[in-house]
Amino acid sequence: MFLAILSIKFIKKERSAMPKSHYLLGAHMSISGGADKALYRGAEIGCTAIQIFTGSNRQWNLKEFTPEEISAFERAQKETGITAVIAHASYLINLGSNSKDILHKSTQALEKELFRCAQLGITYLVLHPGSGSPEQECIAQIESKLADIIEKTKLPVTILIENTAGQGSVVGYSLEQLAELFKDLKKLEKLASVLIRVMPGPQATISRTKTATRSFGKILIT
Ligand SMILES: [Zn+2]
Repeated sequence: MFLAILSIKFIKKERSAMPKSHYLLGAHMSISGGADKALYRGAEIGCTAIQIFTGSNRQWNLKEFTPEEISAFERAQKETGITAVIAHASYLINLGSNSKDILHKSTQALEKELFRCAQLGITYLVLHPGSGSPEQECIAQIESKLADIIEKTKLPVTILIENTAGQGSVVGYSLEQLAELFKDLKKLEKLASVLIRVMPGPQATISRTKTATRSFGKILIT
C-alpha cells in the first residue's frame, strides 16, 4: 500500500512530462452510476489503468450494454486517456460447482460477461477458477467448461485465471493446479491466459517450489 501511494504521488507530479504509455498503475474502481464513471474515478487518483466489474457482481442476469452506455464509456476513455481496462468477473460464477443449476447459471453468466467486455472493448476478464469436490474432477470440469465457452463465444477477450489462496474447496491455489488447468487449454492459443497474484499466507510459499514453477512454465511455453 505504501509503495502504491508513493507511485500515485509520483505520477501526479510527472503526469505532464511522462507519456502515459510508459507506465500502467491502477486499482479497482466502482462503476456506480455507469461503467464510464469508473474511468473518471480512476483518473481522479492518477490511475493509468483500472479494473472494473462490468455490472453488479452479485447478480446473475446482466443485460447487454446499450449504445448510449457504450458511447459514454468510449468518451470517458478519450477524456481520461485510460485505455488499459481489465474487468473482473462476478463472484457468483463457479465453473467447478457440483450443482448443475449453479454450473448452468455460471456458464451463461460468463458468456454474458465476455460479451459485455467485448461491447466496451475490454480485452481481459479476470476469473476465479472455482470450487468443488473432488479436486481433480473440479479442475477437469472447469477446464472443459472454459474450453466450451471460449470456443462458443469466439470473442476477442482473454480470460485471466486468478490464482487463489485455496480457502475451502477453492482450486487454483498452486502452480501445479494452474498447470493442470491449462494443460489442454493451451491448444486454444492465447484465448485463455493466467494472472498470477501474489497471495500472502502458507499457500503462496507452497506454490513457489522449483518443480511447480518449472512444470507450470513448461506447459505455458510449449
Ligand atoms: Zn479476484
